[in-house]
Amino acid sequence: MDFNYTPEQEQYRMAVRSWLEENQPPPLTAEERERISEDLLWERNKRWHKRLYDGGWIGLSWPREYGGRGASFVEQLIFQQELARLNLPIGINVLGIIMTGPALMQWGTEAQKARYLMPILAADEIWCEGMSEPGAGSDLAAIQTRAELQGDYFVVEGQKVWTTVAHRSDFCQLFVRTDPDVPKHRGLSALLVDMHSPGVSVKPLRQMSGDAEFNEIFFDDVRVPKENLLGPLNQGWQVLVSTLMHERFGISETIGGSEVILSQLIELAKEVEMDGASAALDDDIRQQLAQFAIEVTAKKYNGLRALTKRLKGQQPGAESSIGKLVSTELSQRMTKFASRLLGNFATLERHSAFAPDGDWMRRTLQVEALTIAGGTSAVQKNMIGERMLQLPKG
Ligand SMILES: Cc1cc2nc3c(=O)[nH]c(=O)nc-3n(C[C@H](O)[C@H](O)[C@H](O)COP(=O)(O)OP(=O)(O)OC[C@H]3O[C@@H](n4cnc5c(N)ncnc54)[C@H](O)[C@@H]3O)c2cc1C
Repeated sequence: MDFNYTPEQEQYRMAVRSWLEENQPPPLTAEERERISEDLLWERNKRWHKRLYDGGWIGLSWPREYGGRGASFVEQLIFQQELARLNLPIGINVLGIIMTGPALMQWGTEAQKARYLMPILAADEIWCEGMSEPGAGSDLAAIQTRAELQGDYFVVEGQKVWTTVAHRSDFCQLFVRTDPDVPKHRGLSALLVDMHSPGVSVKPLRQMSGDAEFNEIFFDDVRVPKENLLGPLNQGWQVLVSTLMHERFGISETIGGSEVILSQLIELAKEVEMDGASAALDDDIRQQLAQFAIEVTAKKYNGLRALTKRLKGQQPGAESSIGKLVSTELSQRMTKFASRLLGNFATLERHSAFAPDGDWMRRTLQVEALTIAGGTSAVQKNMIGERMLQLPKG
């Protein structure tokens, strides 16, 4: 099997690389570092998204009719690798692009696709994903938020939690219970909900990193036009499962940065001293870095399995769980390893004059969430056991 890229793909990589190098946003100024906040980063990222969009790099693998470029998944992967190489963000509206967009393409009516897909790519409309509830996280079939069809509207009542970017969103792909009298998997539906509707309120939740990127959403008598039903009524479970598969495929792809974390750790090991000598000369550190390199390589080749399936035109399946599990656990262990190299400096916040480059303190706190978001590691292991290894249900 030949894992090398073709000359055309390498040429494509060079075109991506030179565009990114010429157009990448300037580093934060000293003044911006001083007053850094989530709002400031969002605005910077939004400008970057627009530039990527105008350059035709957003939605690379989406069909042209929906505003994409009809590029192959390999080209999409190359683009993401090059973004990661320069440590650049992917833009905003990530959930709209990796989850709602593909779900709309799979389940949406022609009118829904025409209405929603283009503004998702342009990030003119920001989307969030309303799945988890206080009593329904790993077990999403337990969703309790109700939607009752009354004439031309669904009337929604209930609460969601942990909803990423809900506080900045214009729309939510919302999963609701539309039939409470059938077995729980069979009574769910998916709705496309305007977050500016009367009765929607959003309450941010602050994380240990100090950011408030996710939220609670409360729905109080919210009226949603019945044409905003996504997929068939009461078949929301199928829409949900496919949306999650797209998320896991998207997460394992967008966390393609583990190669980058590895190279950052190698550079860090060369820079810092341990017991009066370069950390890069320490046997234990070298072995650990070598172990990471082995895992990064194994992760890369496993990722090609999921990619091969997409290249054959198939939807992502349970193999996306392997990518999600491995990439998030590995990124988590590697990011935390920086603390071993940095010692006490690892605890300094980025505002501090003595903080090491790389924002390791914040990254160490943020990386904790990776193995929970998008389904916990334990849940991914269940999926792999049951769906891929055909083990009996636990
Ligand atoms: C950063 C972040 C962003 C998120 N964004 C969103 C979002 O945008 N939209 C959204 O809807 N949700 C979002 N979530 C929620 C996320 O999907 C849930 O937190 C996750 O699915 C786990 O659900 P839970 O928190 O209710 O934990 P629980 O399901 O209560 O799990 C608690 C513990 O029990 C374990 N467990 C549960 N069931 C099993 C089982 N069957 N077998 C083995 N172990 C099990 C879990 O692994 C976990 O350790 C986000 C979460 C995070 C951290």
